[in-house]
Amino acid sequence: MYNTNISKEILCWYDKNKRDLPWRKTNDPYKIWLSEVMLQQTKVETVIPYYNNWLKNYKTIQSVAQANLDELLKIWEGMGYYSRCKNFYHAAKEIIYKYNGTIPNQFDVFKSLPGVGDYIAGAVMSIAFNHPHPSIDGNHRRVISRILGIKNVSRYNKNRIYNYLKKIVEIDRPGDLNQAIMDIGSTICKPKEVFCDFCPIQFSCKACVSSKPLEYPKKIYKKKIPTRNLAAALIEYGDYILISKRPVDGQLGGLWELPNIELKNGECPEKLLKKSINNHYACTIKVGKNLGLIHHTFTHFKMNITLFRCLLKHDQKVDSSMKWVRWSELDQYAFSKGNHKLFLLYQKENV
Ligand code: SF4
Repeated sequence: MYNTNISKEILCWYDKNKRDLPWRKTNDPYKIWLSEVMLQQTKVETVIPYYNNWLKNYKTIQSVAQANLDELLKIWEGMGYYSRCKNFYHAAKEIIYKYNGTIPNQFDVFKSLPGVGDYIAGAVMSIAFNHPHPSIDGNHRRVISRILGIKNVSRYNKNRIYNYLKKIVEIDRPGDLNQAIMDIGSTICKPKEVFCDFCPIQFSCKACVSSKPLEYPKKIYKKKIPTRNLAAALIEYGDYILISKRPVDGQLGGLWELPNIELKNGECPEKLLKKSINNHYACTIKVGKNLGLIHHTFTHFKMNITLFRCLLKHDQKVDSSMKWVRWSELDQYAFSKGNHKLFLLYQKENV
């Protein structure tokens, strides 16, 4: 039923066309694992400088485990999905304390580490250890759906896709096969564009034979995501501004931000900001000029944040999750992209 020649055709195409990527020049499981973590939800072009910079600073899994989470988040800053960084850090610690510094080469053991799911486990096992495990992400799912002529990616069809890939990775280069399908999905079998004439599997592909390959698989329309409105305070005291650290366990956990509050039911942002900064941050402020509005989108919601310039009324102590910092010191702290947009608003105002 399965055409084993397909694996050969795919590998032959890969040998001639594979993308030249830094993590393809190594078999080190640490580096391969790091690249796969960074590549989740992030484009290859974005990941490359982050990957190179990370390895310049943290050459081994041991050095990650010994690092401070704040330093790691600073290197990750701007790539988003910060839980990936935190999980990688906790997994590195587990590798040191539980596995004596050696990255496990058994699928189930490796998969039990924080942040490791089927995809990353399959990728690391196949690429670094040459074990025949499939790794299935959106690219794999799309390419194989097209080969098999699958329109609805139901649970039953997801199993078919898994079983198909499981069968064709049972060769001597499973890691290359997983990466080859990734490259086919990224370069010639894209969501909205296909180049079947250049595809090594065009003669075995049901979607191509149908001459309507883009109809496979059917597009899943995402639900509209909600919008949240917030007000943020840029609180000044002399040369200093106040920043606050988010709790490590929540969204954007461990990152720094300007104090802010969510607005509901059309409340007056100035009044609410003053009250909430007093309640939550124990600071008495005078809310000043509205510096403008920024928009930022996360996976599950959008945010509109209005920034207000505020003045601290008198010198007050703040708790350890907050800091008074000079503008010149801000680059020592990791902030989300949304916060960097707020800083730009302030800088525009002060040019
Ligand atoms: S033949 Fe066309 S539709 Fe089929 S996998 Fe290749 S590029 Fe995609």
